[in-house]
Amino acid sequence: MSALTLADVYRARQRIEGRALVTPLVHSLSLSRIAGVPVHLKLETLQPTGSFKLRGATNALAQIAEQGCKRVVTASTGNHGRAVAHAARALGIEAAVCMSSLVPKNKVDAVAALGARVVIVGKSQDDAQVEAQRLVRQEGYAFVPPFDDERVIAGQATIGLEILEALPDAASIVVPLSGGGLFSGVAFAAKSIRADVKMIGVSMERGAAMHASLAAGKPVFVDELETLADSLGGGIGLDNRHTFAMTRDLIDDVVLLDEVSIARGIVHAYREERLVVEGAAAVGIAALLDGAIGAANGPIVIVVSGSNIDIATHRRLIGAA
Ligand SMILES: *Cc1c(COP(=O)(O)O)cnc(C)c1O
Repeated sequence: MSALTLADVYRARQRIEGRALVTPLVHSLSLSRIAGVPVHLKLETLQPTGSFKLRGATNALAQIAEQGCKRVVTASTGNHGRAVAHAARALGIEAAVCMSSLVPKNKVDAVAALGARVVIVGKSQDDAQVEAQRLVRQEGYAFVPPFDDERVIAGQATIGLEILEALPDAASIVVPLSGGGLFSGVAFAAKSIRADVKMIGVSMERGAAMHASLAAGKPVFVDELETLADSLGGGIGLDNRHTFAMTRDLIDDVVLLDEVSIARGIVHAYREERLVVEGAAAVGIAALLDGAIGAANGPIVIVVSGSNIDIATHRRLIGAA
């Protein structure tokens, strides 16, 4: 089990203050009507770079910089890569993002535009990962993992502090679940403050690595499949050190969603809340619309984790619905 403490989370909050947003928790009329209890949305969509990943990345990079290291590396091309690039620039250190030659140009450009050094290598995510490890061994870079890292988890956990400060009687918190950095952090902070808060994780059916691992009792490999919730794709690592055990110990319920439900969540967010959310961020809303969030005896909070959806995909979903 992890040695994370609530003091680590408060220190993370101090480190990220002014660098990541304290996001609003907004009441949703439409979802409250459906649920029969107040439903509030935690809008991580508003973070610079468009996702909560900025919290964990900033907390990790601030500590790396304090220790005198001026170069960080990651192999993520998605929200974590963007967050690392942005946080590095804000802290005045160098970020390298390793990616394969198959990564689409718009993703490469997005990372480069944030000031990161883009290292194109090989033809797969594994090749990019190997190059990142080489930079760590041979060129003095510090590696910043996307979820299985106590500094990253502590950064994401600041969301849990903010939720319970804004809404001390929250009964359930619904969190998108992939590698489990977000879930572990939010659940750890929330249950440390109020042990009776119910924590619900939501993943897509197509490639739910944490769900499969929880069922197997240990981290297992799961094939990565195409999904609207692309930010929830990928494994949890067979050598997972923190997030598997934390998620297992802190989770009350897991919900799995099909693609139709995820699309419905994206459309509902747009039509009823005027929010542009990516698939991974729509899963909490979608789970509630599906009736998959059990009855709560108090307010429900849904973490809406990010907004980085391909515009053409978004327009297609909105237009088709
Ligand atoms: C990374 C990510 C998640 C999942 O976070 P984990 O810590 O990997 O579980 C959810 N939503 C968005 C938008 C993300 O970028």
